[in-house]
Amino acid sequence: MFKPHYIYNTLTDITPEFLSENGIEALLLDVDNTMSVAHANKTLRQGVPEWLSLMKENGLPLIILSNAKTKRAKLFADSVGLDVIGLAAKPLPFGYIRAARRLGVKRKNIAMVGDQIFTDVMGGRLAGVKTVLVTDITPEETSFFKIKRYFEQIMLKRWKNER
Ligand SMILES: [Mg+2]
Repeated sequence: MFKPHYIYNTLTDITPEFLSENGIEALLLDVDNTMSVAHANKTLRQGVPEWLSLMKENGLPLIILSNAKTKRAKLFADSVGLDVIGLAAKPLPFGYIRAARRLGVKRKNIAMVGDQIFTDVMGGRLAGVKTVLVTDITPEETSFFKIKRYFEQIMLKRWKNER
């Protein structure tokens, strides 16, 4: 339930070839630590604008799926020219299902890309989409996040040893 289908260092490592080889026709994108550099900082990670262009050139439908308030999520989405579903309440599956409907793509042919096992990945598993965990993230400041990250690191180590 928590294990991602794929693990990448960053969003921009995901290639059109990887997606087509794995039957992925559309992506749901997390914002904090996935597209942006940190949780509270909306600066885009290096290479993200170019990566978005590459995905668009390859005709890949993209939509942002964020737990942020609708207005804040919309503001960010507009800045990168993407459609968005805010207040997604990940890990609940409803936002994923709405996003899949809006994209008009079957859920098994969609992948969620995010940095959090207990949010992005778990929700993706519940909704029946594929999941890509990105692991190159800025350490979080709050203790709530630190606890979450602690458990994420343990699981990550185990999965890496399995390979
Ligand atoms: Mg995130």
